Amino acid sequence: MTLTNKVLLGLALGTVTGAILNILDHSWLNTYVVDGVLYAGGKLFVNALKMLVVPLVIFSLIPGVFAIGDIKLLGKVGTKTVALYIGTTAIAIITAISLAAALGIGEGGALPQDVSFAGREAGKSTLDILIGIVPTNIFKAFASGDMLAIIFFSIFLGIAALSIKDECEETISIIEQMNKIVMKMVELVMWFAPYAVFCLLGKAIADVGIELIADLLGYFLVVIAALLIHAFFTMMVILKTFTGLNVGLFLKKIRSAQIFAFSTASSGATIPVTLRTVQSRLGVDRAISSFSVPFGATINMDGTAIMQGVATVFIANLYGIDLGMQGYLLVVLTAVLASIGTAAVPSVGLVMLTLVFEQVNLPVEAIGLIMGVDRLLDMTRTAVNVTGDTVVTSIVAKGEGRLDEAVFSDPEAGQLEEVHINN
Ligand code: ASP
Repeated sequence: MTLTNKVLLGLALGTVTGAILNILDHSWLNTYVVDGVLYAGGKLFVNALKMLVVPLVIFSLIPGVFAIGDIKLLGKVGTKTVALYIGTTAIAIITAISLAAALGIGEGGALPQDVSFAGREAGKSTLDILIGIVPTNIFKAFASGDMLAIIFFSIFLGIAALSIKDECEETISIIEQMNKIVMKMVELVMWFAPYAVFCLLGKAIADVGIELIADLLGYFLVVIAALLIHAFFTMMVILKTFTGLNVGLFLKKIRSAQIFAFSTASSGATIPVTLRTVQSRLGVDRAISSFSVPFGATINMDGTAIMQGVATVFIANLYGIDLGMQGYLLVVLTAVLASIGTAAVPSVGLVMLTLVFEQVNLPVEAIGLIMGVDRLLDMTRTAVNVTGDTVVTSIVAKGEGRLDEAVFSDPEAGQLEEVHINN
């Protein structure tokens, strides 16, 4: 059995186990199994993935910039990537708002009583986020996993190295070797994925409040529908149009990244898997992926924007507030900007929704209403966020002639069958 199939099995068994635990709702089982074994098993795995993110980004980005070899080209690739990330996020939220508005979700619903939501802490303004891209202390940025700052530093270092190319080839080759070592660590960690996915799903499903979902079924289903339309239709049409690649094969190859994103609900923790997927499975040159993947995980959040779009229509309808065309345009703009400022960690999309609501004067405490069903939606939208990262990365790579079609069309390429440890 391939690792991906084992992971799928873990996903299925975890879901069933979680559902049984949910129904039993037994205090001993909840304490020792759900919040004990399953929690620890999942958390250990996510910790291990997160542990590898910072070294992986640094060690792959520096030689990546070096490999592009041309600063102008770097600028062109960067601009294209950012434009695609922003453009696809805008399409995502427009789809979400249109679908939710057409179906009239929330109209005539009972107004929620005593809901509350703490909202965001005094967050950073967009200007502060932009300024923060240049860190004052790089070790602080490493320590806090500040992705934009780490990307900036690594690109800067790569550019400097490029300008004294002949003098630092050895250093770059050492960094390159470090990259290979960390990639190997990713593969070793992935070996535990089937068990970890079982634990993550078991815990998530055991914790789901089924009755909460029943109450908010309309909202829940519209978010899921918009997410599926965006990931499997819109993004695939965009991919096909720009690259002509085989969509079926593409989807098959990114499946493991989608499953990891779904299980962990964190695009950030999924970076190692996404990076490995686009490089070894899709054949994207590291020169492109080492930049676009961590960058995408940080600023590209199509799924999050979709949830925000549907939530806005839902709450506005529920409260009988007509936002009008102008209001919705403001929602699109704010949600796109918010997705740039949204950290790639679980649940943060909900916190950023405060920003959107504040812009159009919707009651922020109403977010408390949809909070109960957010975990499953968070998992699903994170998978959509990561799908967007892989699509944009492939489009940019194909456009620059840096996608190895031989690797892409080989169904087995980069598949993890067995992890070899030489001793
Ligand atoms: N969990 C999402 C991510 O990491 C962010 C969110 O929508 O809450 O991509």
